[in-house]
Amino acid sequence: MSEQLSRPAAGQGGLVDDFSRTISYLRLSLTDRCNLRCLYCVTEDERLGAVAKLPHSELLSYEELLRVVRVAVAMGIVKLRLTGGEPLLRRDIMSFITRLASIDDLHDIRLTTNGVLLARYAEELLAAGIRKINISLDTLRPHRFAEITGHDCFDAVWQGIEKTLALGFAPVKLNMVVMRGINDDELLDFARLAHDTELQVRFIEFMPIGASSHWSQGAFMPADEIMARIEERFGPLIPMNRDKADGPARLFKLGEQAAGTLGFISPISHHFCDRCNRLRLTSEGRLRSCLLHDEEVDLKQVIRGGGSDSAVREALLTAIRNKPRGHQSIERLRGGGCHGRMSRIGG
Ligand code: SAM
Repeated sequence: MSEQLSRPAAGQGGLVDDFSRTISYLRLSLTDRCNLRCLYCVTEDERLGAVAKLPHSELLSYEELLRVVRVAVAMGIVKLRLTGGEPLLRRDIMSFITRLASIDDLHDIRLTTNGVLLARYAEELLAAGIRKINISLDTLRPHRFAEITGHDCFDAVWQGIEKTLALGFAPVKLNMVVMRGINDDELLDFARLAHDTELQVRFIEFMPIGASSHWSQGAFMPADEIMARIEERFGPLIPMNRDKADGPARLFKLGEQAAGTLGFISPISHHFCDRCNRLRLTSEGRLRSCLLHDEEVDLKQVIRGGGSDSAVREALLTAIRNKPRGHQSIERLRGGGCHGRMSRIGG
């Protein structure tokens, strides 16, 4: 049973696991579908042809998701991220967000998007209750964008970024997966953005995960090297106090006058498992407590098997109880130790 886990009263927060980590953050992958074909997310064959998709009936419905979120919030989850796949592709997402925003004690709902549809939806997102947004962008060069993502739509993403800044979303985080030999010649350009704009530009280490046929030791660049390259050009970065609730990035400013911030996310070289507060719900309704561990709890089976709210709660507790102390070693990951697809797990 779940005696090891401290169970808070509704809304109190404080779901603590065996390793003294407070689990307070749930990430929902709303769909496995995406309008891009990024080289680290799909295989080479899929870039050229069709990508297998889950039938709609395999996705949790909004009613089912709302029920899970209500139970999770009553247990102590305070922060929610909508991701995918590309979450903005899921039909009626705005009314879903509006309903999420009306859940008592849930005040922090965030979105991760590739930005392609952002300019179109930014105002509606704001009205529905989203203020904090992460945008994936691995290059500032339109031609290269098409090479990395398989789609020629850099301008649409850039318009989305500009619109979110203009509308006052804050923070607006730009996530760049750094791949040596593919986009590492743009590190300084990205760093400059964090000086000239209010963006939080985050450099993410390339992980050997899932379908990516492009990961190699050679393409991996550790965060320390990324930082050294930026400091070589701009001088020492100024460390910022890390708001514990605000994610795994180590944050810096590129000088006192910088409008934005720089972040380094190093799941491989300096993993942050000891303060990981996350639980994921995959697009087909499986709870996953570690991005880089394949163990999952089938929550959809509980729900569609007629499980009560306390059965949903037990499933959440089981997933948290199974949360490993740390993720697998790079050697095991390189050997294919993590099979999930980012689009279904929720990147
Ligand atoms: N469509 C949304 C988006 O683009 O932000 C949701 C996430 S989607 C699965 C893609 C994101 O997952 C990437 O931009 C990256 O941040 C992350 N990701 C996927 N594969 C990765 C890998 N091998 N290493 C590091 N990050 C990865």
